[in-house]
Amino acid sequence: MRFETKNVHFQEKIEATETSKAKPIYQTSAFSFKDLDDMEDFFQGNKSYLYTRMGNPNTDDLGKGVAELEGAEVGAASSSGISAILAAVLAVTKSGDHIVATEDLYGGTYQLMARELHEFGIEVSFADFTNEESIESAIQENTVLLYSESITNPLLRVENIETMVSLGKKHGLKTIIDNTFATPFLIRPYELGVDLVVHSATKYIGGHSDLSAGVIVGGSVLMKKVKGKIANLGCNLGPFDGWLGCRGLKTLSLRMERQCSNAKALAEALERNENVKKVFYPTNASDRGNGAIVSIDLAEHVDVHQFFRQLGWIKVVPTLAGVETSVTYPVGTSHRSVPEETRLKLGVTKSLVRISLGIEDRQDIIEEFEKALVFGEVKF
Ligand SMILES: *Cc1c(COP(=O)(O)O)cnc(C)c1O
Repeated sequence: MRFETKNVHFQEKIEATETSKAKPIYQTSAFSFKDLDDMEDFFQGNKSYLYTRMGNPNTDDLGKGVAELEGAEVGAASSSGISAILAAVLAVTKSGDHIVATEDLYGGTYQLMARELHEFGIEVSFADFTNEESIESAIQENTVLLYSESITNPLLRVENIETMVSLGKKHGLKTIIDNTFATPFLIRPYELGVDLVVHSATKYIGGHSDLSAGVIVGGSVLMKKVKGKIANLGCNLGPFDGWLGCRGLKTLSLRMERQCSNAKALAEALERNENVKKVFYPTNASDRGNGAIVSIDLAEHVDVHQFFRQLGWIKVVPTLAGVETSVTYPVGTSHRSVPEETRLKLGVTKSLVRISLGIEDRQDIIEEFEKALVFGEVKF
């Protein structure tokens, strides 16, 4: 099956015996058994479900669906993108270990690694992942993991995953990629040799801004550990949210196709706009498109607050990836706690706006931004 076909048929393939066209929701905390032998079958590996924290058909479906699209053997869902990252990282590290991570990490991941994991004795150093020497010089004796993102936020740098994988092999380190911004529609890090791929399914996998979820995919040996972490740490996703995630996932191809082409059209239009100093939009993400996020640095004579106020039907939000076009102010949200010096080094200025393209008509989107840019102008 090709990507678009797999994208819709992942559930039917898994349980062909059901007669209900839509997958039922197993809204249950546990499963019942005919007798003790029947229950023993679970522990012998002959039955899949015992207790929802340890696995549920709806949440497993979401993991399996994403694993198929990523070309990975096994997938598992969790309660959020952050819990997916936690389960993946703890599956390959322990107290006393060291991680080398990209310096422009998603803000929540930065907090998880630099604050929370630090308290458990896991240390992290940050490196410039566009620079092989920067990564290598951050590697220590106790380093066990290289961690990065396929497309970074908010400046949309496309990471060189091959370099990271070859450095991992050379130094005997595990590798994890957060593939949230690219989705398997554009980039499939597992196929490039990455050990574990994590997602905030809250974003494009779910796609409708009505769900908080995460997914981890990888090979069967590591994923067994990841599933153990999800169950033992209580990072499991609820059945209804698993079902919602699957419903969202089925339209991933259609949404990404439209959202990426809208992003390209908006980037080109804003490139020509004199009220925009700089447009950030990658050209090298994949041959299917370059993502659905565009970041812009407003010209000096545009007032950021005025610009945001003028965005009629375009919502101002602290997230991305829904079917509706939305905007974010990184300095006020994701990069709020990043020290000014680091922020400016990364290029996250006070005039930077991140745009998440939806599936609306592209001309309507372009006109709405052009209008807000004109009204945002401060006239002296
Ligand atoms: C949103 C996001 C996360 C965290 O996901 P949650 O679902 O909010 O826990 C992690 N990584 C990236 C790149 C994200 O955009």
